[in-house]
Amino acid sequence: MQELENLKQNISNKFTNTFNESPEMISVAPGRINVIGEHTDYNLGFSMPAAINRWVIICFSYRNDNIIKISSESFGSTMEYHLGKHFEPSQSWMQYMQGAIEIYQRTEKIDRGFNAYIWGNVPLGSGVSSSAALEVATMALLRTAYKGNFDDVSLVINCQKIEHEYLGVKSGLLDQYASQLSKAGKLMSLDFQSLTHSYFDAAIGKYCWVLVNTKVKRELAGSKYSERVEETQAGLKTLNTLKSTIKKFRDITINDIDLLENKVIKKRIKHFVTENQRVIDTAKAFETNNLDLVGKLLLQSHESLKNDYEVSCVELDFLVEKSLQFDGFLGGRMMGGGFGGCTINLVEKTKLSQYESYILPAYKSRFNIEGEIYAFDMVDGASVEVF
Ligand code: ADP
Ligand code: MG
Repeated sequence: MQELENLKQNISNKFTNTFNESPEMISVAPGRINVIGEHTDYNLGFSMPAAINRWVIICFSYRNDNIIKISSESFGSTMEYHLGKHFEPSQSWMQYMQGAIEIYQRTEKIDRGFNAYIWGNVPLGSGVSSSAALEVATMALLRTAYKGNFDDVSLVINCQKIEHEYLGVKSGLLDQYASQLSKAGKLMSLDFQSLTHSYFDAAIGKYCWVLVNTKVKRELAGSKYSERVEETQAGLKTLNTLKSTIKKFRDITINDIDLLENKVIKKRIKHFVTENQRVIDTAKAFETNNLDLVGKLLLQSHESLKNDYEVSCVELDFLVEKSLQFDGFLGGRMMGGGFGGCTINLVEKTKLSQYESYILPAYKSRFNIEGEIYAFDMVDGASVEVF
C-alpha cells in the first residue's frame, strides 16, 4: 500500500535524524473501527471490527548496552529505560512502553537494549483505539526483535495486560485483536468466548463508512467503563443464583432479564443481550445485502448504548439525531467506549461532501467545537518489516 510505504519512509528518516543510524526494523499497527458489537468484548460477546488506514509506526535498532531509548513524536519526549532497573513513567505513552517491555519479559528475554522512534496518525482518544495500535506495534516489534515464542492471540492478550495492569483499564480484547488480525477490505466476525474470528466481504454498494469525531474526550470514560464491567458482572452473578444454568453472559436470554430486580443492572444486561443479537443480525443483513437493515441495527445499537448502557453523551447523540435528517444517511451510532470519540455512519458515497458540509457546521453551531470527518480504507493488521 503506497500510503503506508510513504509513511514508513518518512518515519525511517526521522529515526535516522534522531539516532544517527538507519532503523533495522519497522513495526506498524493500525487503529480500528467497529461496525457493531459495542461494550460486548469484555463479557465474551461478539463484535465486527476492521483495521483502518491510520497507524502507529515504530522504527527500531538494537543497542549494545542495557538501555532502551524511545522517542515519541506526538508527545515530543524521550524515555530511557534501563533493563533490570526500576522505571518511573512521567507521561502516559511511557506507561504503555513500560507495560510492553515488562510483560514481554515475563515469558521471553530481552538480552540487549534498543532505540525506537514512535509516530502515529490514529487520532488519540477518539474511539479508534490509538492505544491498542501502540501496544500491538510495540509487542509485535519485541516479538520479532527478541524472537518471542508466542502466537498472535497470545500477543493480543499480552497487549490487553498492558491496559489492565499499567493503565488500570479493564478492557476487553476487541481493539488489540482487530489491530493485529484484520485483513484488508474485510470485516471481521469476532467471538470473544471462543477467541476465534472469521473474515467476510461486507459489500456496501453505493454507500461508504464515515467517522465523525466529536473531538470530545471525557475523563469519566475510564471510571464509567469500570463501572459497566462491574455492573454487568454483578448482573451475571445474580442471574446465576436465580438460574444455575446461566454461567456465562452468552447463556443469558432476553427473557432472563426480567429475573433481575435492580433496574440499572437490568438495563446493562439488556444491552449486552440485545447488542450481541444485533451483531448476529447485522452479519445476516450483510449476507442478504440488506443495507437498510444494517442501518437500522446501527441506530438500534446507538439507542441501546444511550438509554440502556448509558455510555453516550450529548455530542454523540446530536450527531446521530442530526444525521437522521440527512437524505443519504442509512444509519450510524457511537463507536468505542463512549462519552466522546467518534460516530460511525453509513452514508451514500456521492453525498459524502454534502454530508460533511451538513453535519460539521451543525455540530459547530450547537457545541462550538470543530468536529472532524474521516473516510477510510480497511487495511491489513499489524506487521513488522526487518531490513
Ligand atoms: P484511544 O485508544 O481511544 O485512542 P486511549 O486514551 O485509550 O484512547 O489511548 C490514548 C493514549 O495512547 C495516548 O494518551 C498515548 O498515551 C497513547 N498513544 C496513542 N498513540 C500514540 C502515539 N502515536 N505516540 C505516543 N503515544 C500514543
Ligand atoms: Mg484505548
